[in-house]
Amino acid sequence: MRRRKKRKRVWLVFSDLDGTLLDEDTYSFEEAKGALSFLKEEGIPVILCSSKTRAEIEVYRRKMTLCDCPFISENGGAIFIPEGEGYGTIELGKPYKLILEVLTEARKSLGVPIKGFYDMSPEEISKICGLPLEEAVLAKEREYSEPIVVSDENVGPLELFLRERGFSLTKGGRFFTVIGGNDKGKAVRKLLELYRSKFSDAEVLSIGLGDGRNDLPMLAEVDFPVIVRKKSGDFLKADIKDAYITRYPGPRGWAEAVFNILEVSRR
Ligand SMILES: [Mg+2]
Repeated sequence: MRRRKKRKRVWLVFSDLDGTLLDEDTYSFEEAKGALSFLKEEGIPVILCSSKTRAEIEVYRRKMTLCDCPFISENGGAIFIPEGEGYGTIELGKPYKLILEVLTEARKSLGVPIKGFYDMSPEEISKICGLPLEEAVLAKEREYSEPIVVSDENVGPLELFLRERGFSLTKGGRFFTVIGGNDKGKAVRKLLELYRSKFSDAEVLSIGLGDGRNDLPMLAEVDFPVIVRKKSGDFLKADIKDAYITRYPGPRGWAEAVFNILEVSRR
């Protein structure tokens, strides 16, 4: 009897940055370096999927030598796929101009004070986020979303106002972010479809790692969802089936999960 040939496996890793692959305070990924080199040797792409802008992510993918991997910016606002010297871009979000417009409308009609990155200087952003000044400059290069400061009692009315107009509010690490109907999950699903059609004879398996509410749609799309623990020891409580909750926080937990999942699946 002829045995069925085992299908080739193609692994993909989707990862949030802040508080997940980067330390929540120092933005260091030192403790994940071993795991990142292992994935590189294995030819497994690490697809950064962050609320950060394209310009900010470009800095980290250079530092992490992930320049041949696609990435997802601004909570699923767009997917960038390396192509020659540039990228093939798939836009899923609404243009920044429209987001600023709806915020102006919201301020007027709700009478609510809302402060966005647009209204802040790089110095101010750098201070609030604990980011180096040059990274704060890149954080202002927005294309599909606007992080805002709004007081807790105004979140509900603002959320409703935005939803009625086809926008939404998502909670990242430090801010609420206004986005245009996109989320990390839609972008991950789109990329998974592309990989599945490219490798139609293989089994495509995905790991997704995150620590915040805005990561939930991404975690819902992958085969191996990972919730990365916070430094406080706490972690995101979510109804995600079979989620791996890391023992260690941030990049150390990231490496722990990647090694464990890949090792167990190979037994
Ligand atoms: Mg995060």
